[in-house]
Amino acid sequence: MPYEPVIGLEVHAQLLTESKIFSPISTKFGAAANAQVSPVCAGMPGVLPVLNRKAVAFAIKIGLATNCKIAPLSIFARKHYFYPDLPKGYQISQYEEPICEHGEIEIEQADGSKKRVRLVRIHLEEDAGKSVHAESFVADNETLIDLNRCGTPLIEIVSGPDLSTPREAYLYLQYLRQLVRYLGICDGNMEEGSLRCDANVSVRPVGQKEFGVKTEIKNMNSFRNVERAIEYEIARQISVLESGGKIVQ
Ligand code: ADP
Ligand code: MG
Repeated sequence: MPYEPVIGLEVHAQLLTESKIFSPISTKFGAAANAQVSPVCAGMPGVLPVLNRKAVAFAIKIGLATNCKIAPLSIFARKHYFYPDLPKGYQISQYEEPICEHGEIEIEQADGSKKRVRLVRIHLEEDAGKSVHAESFVADNETLIDLNRCGTPLIEIVSGPDLSTPREAYLYLQYLRQLVRYLGICDGNMEEGSLRCDANVSVRPVGQKEFGVKTEIKNMNSFRNVERAIEYEIARQISVLESGGKIVQ
């Protein structure tokens, strides 16, 4: 039975502001570990986050460039999770009333044909810190924490489930990188983590209307790896289904 893939991407882009999203601490790369941490970044009780005006302007900029509806009133929410790189115990993100919604972009395929990809939303949020395990200076059973990245401003760009091939996902990402660079809101460097991508992937029998169950591949760090990971996941899902198995979300 022939299957067709359905792919949606969630892309995080680090905004090129000089300071963090909720405090006046520098976001400059390369400082000594934990040198750029304010009480706000460290999640001390009683602190008051103050929103970075430029981060909002940057989010609106990409919203306008992608034909989004810009929310006249936008709100932040707390997304709770417990992990050492998040000292507050919650990430400040947006859930209801994100700053941008209902946009679209157009990608051009190798044969010159165009394809529209819907953008469900673009919202603002803060980055977490970094757990360091793999470096040579970290002992085998230890993890070190660097909170410099806590509070770095991010936008998350969520596509509709409109991409149909790993190549389209690749082209979509390349387009986004070109766009954020052109707008001057992100340096677009995937290898350094200023652009990060999670891919949602499912397959369905050709002709079936409903989507299949999706899986999510997180934190890929190169364009080529995104394409290859999606290729792999599509083949894996098809072989699971063909041998009578079920995809687990
Ligand atoms: P979640 O709440 O699990 O993050 P969402 O519905 O918000 O899921 O979608 C996250 C991403 O997954 C979006 O980019 C969306 O387009 C994509 N997506 C949703 N359903 C599917 C599916 N069945 N197959 C592939 N991608 C999907
Ligand atoms: Mg998700």
